[in-house]
Amino acid sequence: MIVVLKPNISKKDEAAVIKEIKKLGYKPHIMRGVERTVIGAIGDELKHATLEVLGSWPQIEKVMPVQKRYKLVSREVHKATSHINVRGNIIGGKKFQVMAGPCSVESEKQLMTTAHAVAKAGATILRGGAFKPRTSPYEFQGLGEKGLKLLAKARKETGLAVITELLSEQHAEMVGEYTDIIQIGARNAQNFQLLIAAAKTGKPVMLKRGLSMRIEEWLLAGEYVLSNNNPNLMFCERGIRTFETYTRNTLDLSTIPIIKKESHCPIVIDPSQGAGRSDLVVAMCKGAAAMGADALIIEVHPNPAEAWSDGAQQLTLEGFKKFMEELPPYLAAAGREL
Ligand code: PEP
Ligand code: MN
Repeated sequence: MIVVLKPNISKKDEAAVIKEIKKLGYKPHIMRGVERTVIGAIGDELKHATLEVLGSWPQIEKVMPVQKRYKLVSREVHKATSHINVRGNIIGGKKFQVMAGPCSVESEKQLMTTAHAVAKAGATILRGGAFKPRTSPYEFQGLGEKGLKLLAKARKETGLAVITELLSEQHAEMVGEYTDIIQIGARNAQNFQLLIAAAKTGKPVMLKRGLSMRIEEWLLAGEYVLSNNNPNLMFCERGIRTFETYTRNTLDLSTIPIIKKESHCPIVIDPSQGAGRSDLVVAMCKGAAAMGADALIIEVHPNPAEAWSDGAQQLTLEGFKKFMEELPPYLAAAGREL
């Protein structure tokens, strides 16, 4: 159930509502807007008394049932797009954010060269995998903690915030200490214990869409983050597996208006994993920007031909710079700016 309070009610009246929700056996999830507060009451309505009785309280505007299986990620609960503050960079606001960097952190030189170049070109967040989810166990698995340390060093040198993937619950605390955003990869998008561990670090979480995940399943996976007391969730579309083999995955840009309609959580687009080919990445980035995505995450490497992972899809430093120069009109089409 969603309990909408009347505008500008007193703290005392709000506390009374919260107390009653708890008394009736529900967990209140409080969202304070500029004018009014909305409370998502989490609990099984089959096991507890209905909250509909609250509808007659003077401080309550309405009590609404939630028809959908997801609640806290839903736009019904929170009308405005959530703003996620990552070291002063707001994801979900008017300013568009670009996350860029190599698929994998390979060496200090590779990472620092890339970080300085993407920062200069206008990126605000540095991506780089330290723990890599490789299809084959014989491929480069990432530098682990050494990679995380290099990301932290690059942040210090450039001022960029950092996003990196969390692969395993056992590393949640460690990754949470180094990074500014935790990335949950496509292969782990329904690893619910990992989602809970990521949520509990308190860091913003970027949840990629699984390789064959339906949008409802993706939203429900996101629900695991919000229901574990972490409001800072963003979704990331990175392409799904279809019958098409021309591209690595099929980047589903319909998720931009769909996530915007269904959820208040920002939507990030990853055309690098989506296309799997660097020659398609720029066009897909521009399309995503014009369609109203909140941010992009793009793989960039000083020498893609020698990359230790995903060489075919990474932009060069020059390619990224040129793309950033071409981006503003596409953002303007969506009422955004860099
Ligand atoms: C990546 O970002 O390098 C990556 C492995 O992404 P995904 O989980 O989308 O495949
Ligand atoms: Mn990659």
